[in-house]
Amino acid sequence: MDLFEYQGKELLRKFEIPVPEGRVASTPEEASEATRFLGSRVVVKAQVAVGGRGKQGGVKLVSSPEEAHEAAAQIFDITFTDQEGRGAERSKRVLVERAGELKAEYYCSFILDRTSRKHLAIMSSEGGMDIEEVNRTNPDAIAKVTIDPLLGLSDFHARELVFGGNIDEEARKGALSILPKLYRALVELDASQIEINPLVLTGDGKVMALDAKVILDDSAAFRHPFYEELKAAHEVNEQERKAKEHGLNLIKLDGDVGIIGNGAGLVMSTLDVVKDAGGSAANFLDVGGGASAEVLSNSLQIITENPEVKSIFINIFGGITRCDLVAEGIIHALARLDVDVPIVVRLDGTNAEQGRKMLADAPHPMLKTADTMLGAAEKAVALAHGEGA
Ligand code: GDP
Ligand code: MN
Repeated sequence: MDLFEYQGKELLRKFEIPVPEGRVASTPEEASEATRFLGSRVVVKAQVAVGGRGKQGGVKLVSSPEEAHEAAAQIFDITFTDQEGRGAERSKRVLVERAGELKAEYYCSFILDRTSRKHLAIMSSEGGMDIEEVNRTNPDAIAKVTIDPLLGLSDFHARELVFGGNIDEEARKGALSILPKLYRALVELDASQIEINPLVLTGDGKVMALDAKVILDDSAAFRHPFYEELKAAHEVNEQERKAKEHGLNLIKLDGDVGIIGNGAGLVMSTLDVVKDAGGSAANFLDVGGGASAEVLSNSLQIITENPEVKSIFINIFGGITRCDLVAEGIIHALARLDVDVPIVVRLDGTNAEQGRKMLADAPHPMLKTADTMLGAAEKAVALAHGEGA
């Protein structure tokens, strides 16, 4: 189980690892309230399991409750994806933390290395950025230490990490005292990973964990009843849960135009064009590469279970996926299902002509087509608003 940052930090706090003071907020109002409590300069951070939030606009420094309100509102509107642009997640909470001046950012992690059956610790003065990137461009800046789990972390391991990782002199003492605590946390929590990126040296000379990515080993759940509680925060709504069961990546949104697309990037642009056309999306749904009849009928079924949905926009760009197969999938899905809202299909890319012809030749009262993405969005929005298009 990948914990949210705020959950990881709560656990680290129990092991006396310094973390910034903060509060969790579920609404922009709560975020501004938290800011009032914490003092003016705070950082508002999205709480999602995917990494690289900062680059996607999920970490915002602000200096007033009003700004925190706005930052949180913006963050709640972002659809986060993982590094490969796949997977998608919305932030249901933000962590509001007291922000300080940072003198330096380091990288520190402990993982369970299943191949060697040992723990692996990594430390580097090049923190705050992608560690794989540092490993490629500047491997000497990284210290790696293998730890025998039966012997545990020794002082010499910690020194090797701090000196080998080139940690600034001012931060060494703090780092040396944090490392054994992190290792203890890893072992006692049955975590398979604790990654602190960045571990920072603050303006007033303190070393603390500014970010925390903790992964708990689910097979150890039986001896940690608190895992259940942490899991509850990851619960998604019924529609999202069902989609997940079918291997579909769905995020419920508040609008009335159901969306099906292939590829997270395309689905996100689809949400944007629907908005540009004056409508609002009811969901994000990425069918990925496979747009078979089964995938499409599962998708249509799950989407139409949302009573808010007044029209559906299927937006497929055929790359590896062939549009004729998608058309076949749509036709088969409609034969199986009893869909009573209009569906606008836009096919482009590989075998698009053929796919469009197949849809035209198999008329269905609810099926409409459009040649362009904007055209299709306008049609779907008009239909959702009850205007015949
Ligand atoms: P990530 O992008 O998901 O890894 O989010 P992080 O929590 O690691 O934050 C990304 C970056 O934002 C950090 O490397 C810092 O440079 C910056 N940042 C985060 N919190 C603070 C803070 O309290 N003060 C300052 N000055 N910068 C911060
Ligand atoms: Mn980080």
